[in-house]
Amino acid sequence: MTNTLQITDIPVPGYERVVRGVDKASGLHAIIAVHDTTLGPALGGLRMWPYASEEEAMFDVKRLSRGMTFKSAVAHTGLGGGKAVIIGDPKKLKSEALYLAMGRLVDSLNGKYITAEDVNTSVQDLEIIRRATKHVTGLERKDGGSGNPSPYTAYGVYLGMRAALGRVFGSDSAKGKTIAIQGVGAVGSALAKRLIDDGAKVYGADRNNERLQQCAKEMGVIPATEAEIMTMKCDVFAPCALGAILHDDSIPKLNTPIVAGAANNLLLEPRHGKVLDDRKILYAPDYVINAGGIINVSVEFHPGGYDEKVSLGKIERIPQALKELWTIAKEERIPPSDAADRLAERIVADGRGAKKATACATQPRRPGGGCGCG
Ligand code: NAD
Repeated sequence: MTNTLQITDIPVPGYERVVRGVDKASGLHAIIAVHDTTLGPALGGLRMWPYASEEEAMFDVKRLSRGMTFKSAVAHTGLGGGKAVIIGDPKKLKSEALYLAMGRLVDSLNGKYITAEDVNTSVQDLEIIRRATKHVTGLERKDGGSGNPSPYTAYGVYLGMRAALGRVFGSDSAKGKTIAIQGVGAVGSALAKRLIDDGAKVYGADRNNERLQQCAKEMGVIPATEAEIMTMKCDVFAPCALGAILHDDSIPKLNTPIVAGAANNLLLEPRHGKVLDDRKILYAPDYVINAGGIINVSVEFHPGGYDEKVSLGKIERIPQALKELWTIAKEERIPPSDAADRLAERIVADGRGAKKATACATQPRRPGGGCGCG
């Protein structure tokens, strides 16, 4: 088969590499953004979305890949941040040829970017991509992968939520607490199960009513409407559906002392971290509390391969990371979301410094003693 894939580099300040891949034969129009590989290869999912324009796709892939750098840095996964998007309607565009072309695009980066599942892509799609590149993670356990990340994300959110309960109520037990979960999908339902097992009263809302009724029947989630879930009096509001739901209109209506959930990019704008703080609502920064999934995937890169025990051990450090952030935030009088960003930036900068020092130490000395690398 002739290779009709055209790859173009797009210079983007602040990003190590951004490439566009267009394959007329299969209809592929994709962008991969490698934000930062200081701490390791850039890992991030492949999203397929009917973006209205390439600019819109570029905005999303840049934002998401930078977010992955921060998430992986704070979770100490040993990975950098990247993301890929395919522009198009998944219902119309998905095909074997499309994913093979996408695999070739991933492969062209020689492991600088490693792909994974994301919105509108599945493990089956990744299996096709793997025929064109080895730089794929999150495959089934039987195929040597780490499997579905959602239960691990839910476990991390559950542990992080308990840390938040401990900070606000003096005990980290969920027993007798009222938790409102927005979105009882893969992560939200697994979280609900853990909390109900602990004796919490769990309300749930979901756009998919069938799914909500199933959670009500099978585990005792109390159904609520979409409007109720965000405004009801509760001990924790756990957003596990969409991003950008915390903003000037919604934050004043929250009736909770804690926001701790799985969804990415919860704050509409960074300044909304302060709006939450001003209302004395304890916020568990999204990319810190929801890192269980990426932690689990990152264990695939350990010598000896994937080991669930290693993954669980690392996920169990999420509460400690949150406690440290809340302490920094209090001491420095900044919102926890800003404290998380600062911490992530510092970890990457330290990594950069360490890399430079290693490179410098391996350079031949100049007569004056310096290595000449500045
Ligand atoms: P999912 O698609 O399985 O579940 C999301 C659920 O939210 C669906 O059941 C959907 O019907 C519901 N929903 C959508 N809009 C809603 C609304 N306005 N009100 C109420 N319910 C609504 O997704 P998931 O894998 O459970 O992920 C949940 C969130 O967590 C997403 O934002 C995802 O990006 C994030 N996240 C997931 C993982 C993971 O491992 N799956 C890791 C990190 C972050």
